[in-house]
Amino acid sequence: MPENYTKILKKEDRDLFELLPGYACNANCRFCSIDPAKRNVNNSTKELLKTIYDAKKDGFKYLGIGGGEPTIRKDLQFLINFAKQLKFDIVRIETNGIALSRPDYCKHLVESGLDFVKISIHSRKAKIHDYLVNVPGAFKNILKAIENLQKLKVRIEINTVINKYNYKEYPQFVDFFSQMGIGSFCFIYPLYTGRMADNWREVGINIKKAAPYLEETFNLIDELELDKGIVFNIPPCCLSGHEDKMVESSPFNTKVGAPDITVESIDFDRIKNKTKLKRCQRCRYFQNCEGVWNSYSNLFGDSEFQPIYEKPK
Ligand code: SF4
Repeated sequence: MPENYTKILKKEDRDLFELLPGYACNANCRFCSIDPAKRNVNNSTKELLKTIYDAKKDGFKYLGIGGGEPTIRKDLQFLINFAKQLKFDIVRIETNGIALSRPDYCKHLVESGLDFVKISIHSRKAKIHDYLVNVPGAFKNILKAIENLQKLKVRIEINTVINKYNYKEYPQFVDFFSQMGIGSFCFIYPLYTGRMADNWREVGINIKKAAPYLEETFNLIDELELDKGIVFNIPPCCLSGHEDKMVESSPFNTKVGAPDITVESIDFDRIKNKTKLKRCQRCRYFQNCEGVWNSYSNLFGDSEFQPIYEKPK
């Protein structure tokens, strides 16, 4: 385990509090990693206000509100406003963007204090995006949402889940959205749990197959001098030379508060679901690598993870 991970975040490391108000959602993504049985597990407003208050008292600087889908909650504006009054430096939501196609709704969220939106987009092609999230018209709504948020000068970052339907088109995807003025991209290699575990043969893709396209995409992001390109859940041996893009290269310093679980340190917690292989001991990344997700190697095997001996050029 990287030596700077602690079970409970030290006071000075408390950066992001990720609040998951519940698991209800208005989409049905084929790669969703949440157990569908949890969809009706949701916190009350009173419980969430207490969690937000405690997070601020504990010293967290930023508040993220995710889910499930936060925009289907009637109290979202109220929660954002409460967090802003407590003086979190940044309040952001993580959303599928469908509800943000309504200009008046975006305006109300921003007036409540919303600073930043992470919006989930999985293709630049409407047909593919709508198929993946299982909602006809979702992509059209996202384009409207981007327009609405940009008019309100809200910071936008794109989250995208790497899968069989989109991995080859990522350079074109970045090109398309960067031309719309978005410069921040977060590539998430999915966890093979929930619906993703059921659909892995149809939607899943080997990390090694996706890696060359991600490399090309990161090179483009650097070439275009965009703000940010990061990737979650890929070990360094599969993207050697792009360690600066890997979220796990440095502590994420995040606590998660969900209706059914509290994770004191996301960095520390995820290690228990990963394994280092015997051959990993010979790898130059051994000390800092967290290993391979068990849910991945149970399905795809582990032969693609091979030690890297040389320093990348
Ligand atoms: S070979 Fe093992 S230690 Fe090296 S990067 Fe891959 S998973 Fe990590």
